[in-house]
Amino acid sequence: MPLREHVPLAPYTTLGLGGEARYFVECDTEDQVRAALVHASARHLPVYVLRITVGGIEFRDGPTPEVRAGAGVDWDTVVQGVAERGWTGVECLSGIPGTVGGTPIQNVGAYGQEIAETLVSVACLDRTTRERQTFTAEDCAFGYRDSRFKRADRGRYIVLEVTLQLARDRTPRIRYPELQRAVAGLGGLETIAPTEAVRLVREAVLTLRRSKSMVLDPADPNTRSAGSFFTNPVLSVDAFADLEKRWTGIPSFPADGGVKVPAAWLVEQAGFPKGYRGTGRGAGVSTRHALALVNLGGTSADLLALAEEVRSGVERQFGIRLAYEPEVVSPSSPPPSRSR
Ligand code: NAP
Repeated sequence: MPLREHVPLAPYTTLGLGGEARYFVECDTEDQVRAALVHASARHLPVYVLRITVGGIEFRDGPTPEVRAGAGVDWDTVVQGVAERGWTGVECLSGIPGTVGGTPIQNVGAYGQEIAETLVSVACLDRTTRERQTFTAEDCAFGYRDSRFKRADRGRYIVLEVTLQLARDRTPRIRYPELQRAVAGLGGLETIAPTEAVRLVREAVLTLRRSKSMVLDPADPNTRSAGSFFTNPVLSVDAFADLEKRWTGIPSFPADGGVKVPAAWLVEQAGFPKGYRGTGRGAGVSTRHALALVNLGGTSADLLALAEEVRSGVERQFGIRLAYEPEVVSPSSPPPSRSR
């Protein structure tokens, strides 16, 4: 297990920002993850899981096809492989940056589809016992961008692999009008076979995401971001009714437990339009999407100052405190450590 010291983390983040890891290890196998945890606990070191490189991807054909992928596999490689086979279930999750292991943590979703719908099981390493444990979708307690791994079991498990079950010969259902328009622009799904339809939907999602700089591209400076920086708040019905008394024309959507309001709309209305540059000038709002905060050659401090500026602005204007989607790791907020 090659242990490296004083490793700058910026190259490992899509923002291109980050401090230095005192120790850094890339783990290709379950045994390496276990060994790294033993090493850290013997030295009383807090552990932050940034880069698990457990690989392996297996597509199992059959009446209900499945894909099993290691936590370190690039997520879009999985989606591409599934779409190429014409299997339905994850096509709307095309182009999302990151690895397979992150997807169950926040129940990754886009355009009305989420990983909870196809996930069969998640194999994890329990950092407390260092034993392997497998969870079904039901065990994961998935919610809107939420799971047990973000709540009661925050920091406890390291995801090792994920298994998804797809559908065959099923035309994808398009839930969002914006995606419906993009699909229609590519010819629509009516006259084509389900396998073709899956590939077309993937293409439409990628086109849409690229237009918002939400597909990683070294040539596009707007993609030096963490994607959406704030989650879309879900307000109680009463809180939303209250808000509507003070503001007209708020876009909203029904959601589990209340009403979902687009965070991007709140950000723009609070005075942070696309292209806004933070006071530190080293960070700004993407010129293509108000929810993406972009590193413009500055520092982590610039980006966090901008995040706080936006968050306070929205709170002042609407009384809604936005939650960060990325996890901030700093000396004042060390990572959760569950190793013995
Ligand atoms: P968008 O499509 O402009 O949507 C903005 C907001 O409106 C989101 O809260 C979205 O809900 C909601 N919305 C729009 N149409 C809706 C409908 N027909 N029914 C219910 N809710 C609707 O969002 P975007 O920022 O450009 O992102 C595109 C998609 O990628 C969104 O679904 C977004 O959530 C997803 N995304 C996910 C992540 C993540 O999982 N970390 C990160 C970036 C983007 P939803 O958010 O529930 O879709």
